[in-house]
Amino acid sequence: MTILLLGKNGQVGWELQRALAPLGELIALDRHGRGELCGDLTNPRGLRATIRALKPSVIVNAAAYTAVDRAEEEHELATRINADAPAALAEEARALDALLVHYSTDYVFDGSGDAPWLETDIPGPLNHYGASKLAGERHIQNSGCRHLIFRTSWVYAANGKNFLATMARLMREHEALQVIDDQVGAPTGAELIADVTAHAIRQLGHNESLGGLYHLVAGGETSWHGYASFIAESLQAQDIGIQTTPERIKPIPTSAWPAPAARPLNSRLDTAKLERVFGLTLPHWQQGVARALAERIASSL
Ligand code: NDP
Repeated sequence: MTILLLGKNGQVGWELQRALAPLGELIALDRHGRGELCGDLTNPRGLRATIRALKPSVIVNAAAYTAVDRAEEEHELATRINADAPAALAEEARALDALLVHYSTDYVFDGSGDAPWLETDIPGPLNHYGASKLAGERHIQNSGCRHLIFRTSWVYAANGKNFLATMARLMREHEALQVIDDQVGAPTGAELIADVTAHAIRQLGHNESLGGLYHLVAGGETSWHGYASFIAESLQAQDIGIQTTPERIKPIPTSAWPAPAARPLNSRLDTAKLERVFGLTLPHWQQGVARALAERIASSL
């Protein structure tokens, strides 16, 4: 099987390079492409030509416009990357009868209530990033191509630009921090997303009917404040010199931290469908965060 991976250097893309390698011939591209091959999601013509030349049986799109606040200013670019490009990928996948794997977000929901969102719940994005990702999902679903769409949340990787990395830095630099405590979700590791993706692709090879939309997040739930406190406790326990002790992390409401893009308060995603269909048990979020912290500590030695 030939697999085309787009966005190979993002948090999820990097882990997919590892997780997809045993499945077949993997052609992994970043936005700069390789030779004649185009991996730039702002260039649908180039993407189409690349897919027609390679004829992959699986296309995995880990590239996205992920700057949530900047998307409020850069509507057109976010739409081009998160909605128009997936539409082009889906059309090409349909023509080839290839499987398209794509990622979406908890930000497609409006964050109301406190029940975990189901795949069948009606989305209502609060910001342009969420709207552009929802449009991407819908283009794929309407194209009629074989697909897997995984909605995930609060993604981190040991080496990525993310909340975990920012907190670890701020905790070394500051004695006290303020962190939002009324947005609830699940920090989800890029490793987990990549491993589940590889597992699902393999299972679809035996049973095509398993395609569709799935929620994919780590087990349990927390707030950004709970997440930050866990990071501080873990670093303290490892004797890493941080100035911010867990007691000095003050919980604040979202309203005290105005940002250009509104964020949902309830980002809980229900993963029962994914676990049932693919026979998986999703590990608790603290397990993956502890691993990523251990990797960061080891690599700073
Ligand atoms: P990253 O921001 O880590 O990676 C995104 C990648 O997309 C980067 O490598 C970036 O390249 C690439 N990219 C951006 N623009 C283009 C372009 N025009 N052409 C080609 N590549 C481009 O994202 P994640 O790995 O965290 O996200 C993976 C998926 O998960 C995305 O679909 C995202 O929407 C979704 N998601 C992410 C969440 C998060 O918290 N990060 C939460 C929920 C869902 P470059 O580095 O060169 O800019």
